[in-house]
Amino acid sequence: ARAQAMEVDQSPSVEYEDIGGLDEELREVREAVEDPLVNPDQFEHVGVEPPSGVLLHGPPGTGKTMMAKAVANETDATFIKMAGSELVQKFIGEGSRLVRDLFDLAEQEEPAILFIDEIDAVAAERTDSKTSGDAEVQRTMMQLLNEMDGFDERGDIRIIAATNRFDMLDSAILRPGRFDRLIEVPEPDQAARERILDIHTRGMNLAEAVDYAALARDTEGFSGAELESLTTEAGMFAIRDGRETVTMADFEDALEKIQREEENGTPGYA
Ligand code: ATP
Repeated sequence: ARAQAMEVDQSPSVEYEDIGGLDEELREVREAVEDPLVNPDQFEHVGVEPPSGVLLHGPPGTGKTMMAKAVANETDATFIKMAGSELVQKFIGEGSRLVRDLFDLAEQEEPAILFIDEIDAVAAERTDSKTSGDAEVQRTMMQLLNEMDGFDERGDIRIIAATNRFDMLDSAILRPGRFDRLIEVPEPDQAARERILDIHTRGMNLAEAVDYAALARDTEGFSGAELESLTTEAGMFAIRDGRETVTMADFEDALEKIQREEENGTPGYA
């Protein structure tokens, strides 16, 4: 079970150009993660330590994982992903053990980008209820912070965590030397939605120019992941109709379908 919990990708295929919007956020991620890997001397010369860990926070499906993968790709680092929820285990010591394994693996694979999704699963503010489960989760988090403290000697390993629940985090993990670079990843705005639609229709066989601006106006509140589903759904309408090209009407039908499903609260694949 241990090996399955980790996703290892020696050469993820996501590129910076695949990410819509998030220019400023990506610049910050690159500065904190890429620069120390590619140009460690720079930090030594100036006499500052690079940020220890980067924490990406924001709503689901907005590109946090994508950014981590893209930096791994562009720096030729191995991408290692673990979900925080996987670190919450039944047996005492099992979570800490997984954390150790994770860092050992990163060391073997370096240069490596360690991506811990849903960090809130192990790093939520402690509540009053002092159940034994809570104590075990706390130990797992302490192990994670310990491993991060030993970072200086580890060389080419950078750590990125992500959460949709920033408000729940224990402030202990945000101290200097820990996740000390916070980057908010927002929902896409109009321009970003246009760009994301453009990106996800690149490989599609379009019958006509798609009015990205109009679609973006009608998709306020959509995440990047939801915009991607919209393009897939539009393609499905063309297929159902026996066509090989996708029209603007297919996008409109797809949007209508998604909005109807949202109203009914029943996402489905009719
Ligand atoms: P979660 O918090 O749910 O883990 P996330 O923020 O890590 O979500 P991703 O896994 O990066 O989200 O995004 C899911 C998919 O949605 C991506 O594989 C991509 O296809 C699409 N997507 C999300 N954001 C963007 C974006 N900014 N540009 C292009 N595609 C995007």
